[in-house]
Amino acid sequence: MDQLITGIHHVTAIAAGAQKNIDFYTGILGLRMVKKTVNFDAPGVYHFYYGDETGHPGSILTFFPYEGLAHGRHGKGMLNTTTFSLPITSMNYWLERLQRFDIAYKQPQERFEGEAVVYFEDADGLGLELVFNDKDTRSGFTYGHIPAEHAIRGFYNVEIWEEGYERTAGLLTEQLDHRLIAEKGNRFRFAATDAPGNYVDIVCSPDSLRGLAGSGTVHHIAFSTPNAATQQELRLKIVKRMLNPTPVLDRNYFTSIYFREPGGVLFEVATAGPGFTVDESKDHLGEALQLPPQFEADRAAIEKEVLPVTLAPANFK
Ligand code: ZN
Repeated sequence: MDQLITGIHHVTAIAAGAQKNIDFYTGILGLRMVKKTVNFDAPGVYHFYYGDETGHPGSILTFFPYEGLAHGRHGKGMLNTTTFSLPITSMNYWLERLQRFDIAYKQPQERFEGEAVVYFEDADGLGLELVFNDKDTRSGFTYGHIPAEHAIRGFYNVEIWEEGYERTAGLLTEQLDHRLIAEKGNRFRFAATDAPGNYVDIVCSPDSLRGLAGSGTVHHIAFSTPNAATQQELRLKIVKRMLNPTPVLDRNYFTSIYFREPGGVLFEVATAGPGFTVDESKDHLGEALQLPPQFEADRAAIEKEVLPVTLAPANFK
């Protein structure tokens, strides 16, 4: 049977400042800005997409930057950590790089076998990790300021905290084509495809407070479905599970449905295509502000509302 879900598509988080966000993700981490657009549901706010060269599913971290927004709080019912995959041979390079940019991090720790994990946060407190491993075959993107061999390959896993893991696990395995592939202590790892970029860790943390939305927190996680037909089929399964999905929404680079999983995290299912080259060429991804057709008539007003930003990763050698 063909899978309706193949893995992670993207993670979307909330930031407090647009320029700071660009500097951190393209400059310090070296991700490619694959799209600079606005929030389709609130076009006065940017929507930045960072990823690999073309923004493959499993590499895309996106942000809504609200200038001056108060911090949220990590906690249960929330995706608290997004991790990036790197070769094991890149660890020294990255530890030195984090130090150089004055980013506090926790010492490397083995999680599952063959995974050395380093936790740190962005300027808004968003939970991030570098996972050094030897099983990622993807190539990374570089603007040239980070050696290609040390470029981030995409996501490794995400970490969701829950009161209990069972109901979310049920949804992942029964409706979303995931299976349990590893567990350790209170951590249960699921994947639709057993490869870096697709691991979803559910961590049972009944004693933590509930997460609180704000800057430095994740808004939702999107899973990847091959096409419009598989998305419809999946949507019906979510309806049958009584999770009340939205209608299919056109996000220009993919179409989406949204629903809240039983533990409280907002889930999205997005189509793998058409992708980020629908409105600008691969060589120029992320350079100009792209607006979907419905907002093009308001371009002048939108450009006035969002603060101008600069993409200059080379300043972060
Ligand atoms: Zn999304």
